[in-house]
Amino acid sequence: MNRQFDFLIVGQGLAGSLLYWYLQKLGKSCIVVDAGSEGASMAAAGIINPMTGRNYVKSWMVDIALPHARQCYENMESHYDARFYHALPVYRALHSVKEENDWLLRTMDPSYDGYAGEVLPSEAVEGFIKNPVKYGHTCGAARVDLPVMLEAVRKELEDKKCFIAASFTAEELQPHAQGWQWQSITAGAVIFCEGFKAVYNPFFNYLPFAPAKGNILIVKNEEATMPFNLRDEFFVTPLEDGRYWIGSGYRWGEWDTEVNEEDILKMRNFADATLAFPFEVVEQKAGVRPSTKSRRPILGQHPKHPGLFIFNGLGTKGTSLGPYFAQMMAEHLVNGREIMPDVAISRHPFPS
Ligand SMILES: Cc1cc2nc3c(=O)[nH]c(=O)nc-3n(C[C@H](O)[C@H](O)[C@H](O)COP(=O)(O)OP(=O)(O)OC[C@H]3O[C@@H](n4cnc5c(N)ncnc54)[C@H](O)[C@@H]3O)c2cc1C
Repeated sequence: MNRQFDFLIVGQGLAGSLLYWYLQKLGKSCIVVDAGSEGASMAAAGIINPMTGRNYVKSWMVDIALPHARQCYENMESHYDARFYHALPVYRALHSVKEENDWLLRTMDPSYDGYAGEVLPSEAVEGFIKNPVKYGHTCGAARVDLPVMLEAVRKELEDKKCFIAASFTAEELQPHAQGWQWQSITAGAVIFCEGFKAVYNPFFNYLPFAPAKGNILIVKNEEATMPFNLRDEFFVTPLEDGRYWIGSGYRWGEWDTEVNEEDILKMRNFADATLAFPFEVVEQKAGVRPSTKSRRPILGQHPKHPGLFIFNGLGTKGTSLGPYFAQMMAEHLVNGREIMPDVAISRHPFPS
């Protein structure tokens, strides 16, 4: 039986889930297809970290995107009766007087109010971190438990019979009087939210994707409840049930989710040298970030195929930027809202 929807979304990672959230809020019907392969969202720590990089700079769009993200996740939490947004500061390790001074400079800059907190003494991490240094307290940080959020969205889609567990195949996509036809589905438009797998998408693989693999180690100690995220050589973030996420490094150009033993060993050594509590290793895995050469998301309609859209390129900052741009994408689809030039697909020339 043929079924008709306003939108067909390909991929139910963070991007596809958020887009679905905003489209259904605008009263639109959606069907979502996901292959169930391990997306980046299932490997990510989901940290929202307002100050990043070697120089402790504010992340791009942070003043607008962070309040937007918080509101979005909290609204989703109440709708789904689930908890996945956890406010938790990041303690940034400061290994030298220079690093400490650089941090202090940020604290004196009014544009960093609400982000660059005080320099914390080593006692602040007692019981959790071995050989502590001083730490820059990053305020406004949080963790979004993406597996929990994605599961809640998936359940709703399944309950509404709007989820198809399958691999979307472009060869089966045909233009249709009402938009596009794929298998027994007709949709006004198709939006590809495939994460790094966009590199295999015959319509959008001309875009400047630069996927970056990251390996992660999950360790466990049920008694130690670390009340902060640690940003040192690696990131350490407390998950549920006494588990800790340690990650993750960047392996550019590796487009598989096979664990790299060398990286895992580095994290294991880091954990041994850093965590003051005993732990057991419970899991190791890898994910591929959908990064782009422009280091910006990519939104918009294919230049030659009306009705085919992309929402991708959330890169390393999916949880911070995702909600703001998912809303922009949804409003673009529904009422033609203009897409910000920095993220518009049109900034990437289509090869002639
Ligand atoms: C190790 C690691 C750590 C990270 N840490 C953080 C962090 O702390 N904070 C942060 O904000 N971001 C982090 N990220 C980045 C974050 O994970 C991404 O920005 C975000 O999850 C991307 O979501 P997405 O939906 O675009 O892609 P994905 O999560 O990869 O989802 C894509 C989905 O599309 C499906 N799919 C693809 N092709 C098809 C097809 N043809 N047919 C059907 N389904 C298809 C896949 O099965 C998948 O479910 C991290 C990423 C990694 C790998």
